[in-house]
Amino acid sequence: MGDRWVCVYLLCSGDQLMLIDSGYPHTLHLLTDSIYRLGFKPDNLRWILHTHEHFDHFGASREFKHLYGCKLAISAAGADALRERPDRALLDWGPNPNAQPPQFDKVLLDGQRFEFGNFSIDCVLTPGHSTGTMSFFFDVTHEQKTYRAGLYGGAGMITVWREHLARYALPQSLPEQFIGSLKKVADEPVELMLANHPRQGRMIEKRERQLKNGQNPFIDAAEWPAFIAQKEHEVQAFMLSDRGT
Ligand SMILES: [Zn+2]
Repeated sequence: MGDRWVCVYLLCSGDQLMLIDSGYPHTLHLLTDSIYRLGFKPDNLRWILHTHEHFDHFGASREFKHLYGCKLAISAAGADALRERPDRALLDWGPNPNAQPPQFDKVLLDGQRFEFGNFSIDCVLTPGHSTGTMSFFFDVTHEQKTYRAGLYGGAGMITVWREHLARYALPQSLPEQFIGSLKKVADEPVELMLANHPRQGRMIEKRERQLKNGQNPFIDAAEWPAFIAQKEHEVQAFMLSDRGT
């Protein structure tokens, strides 16, 4: 689901639904439509897990919770970051700076396993893009085969620029933490890489290829290690640049 900028994932276990991230506040109606088009009912939405505390990832959560009574989870570090400084949600970067972060119902700790129906989701804290970025790893069964899915919770570097860290009172060590986080999850045996934003995993191109030739380009065990290595290279280069710390 989601749009061309930000990914939203729908997980279904029986008739119970869960989302990972909820996109922008103003795409609520499109996401709701997507749930119906995929053959499900939003009334069955039970949980939304969030990769990090920026508004393009939790945007529609407040309304989904209000409409369907689902519960919201985010890393403890992400919840803390917003409690200290709500402007870290970056709502002022979007079209409605008066929007508010939602009330979260549960905080997730590093190494915690979140159980949802048939899914066991391993939560790994990977600070860097934000202090509360959390990555998720879980098994997905498709056509009687089980694959390990991995979602790196936040990979963009615009939020670790020196000016950004100062403006939002974030730790100057965040770029170094970014490198540590990438190393922490580099050996995860991911066969299905779920990108945080479509362009980070060429998600739309893959879907178009899938529709055209019936193959499944989403299953590719080489993609995760390549993505992590490339990202580590980019963060290292960034730290040596004049925008780095
Ligand atoms: Zn972000």
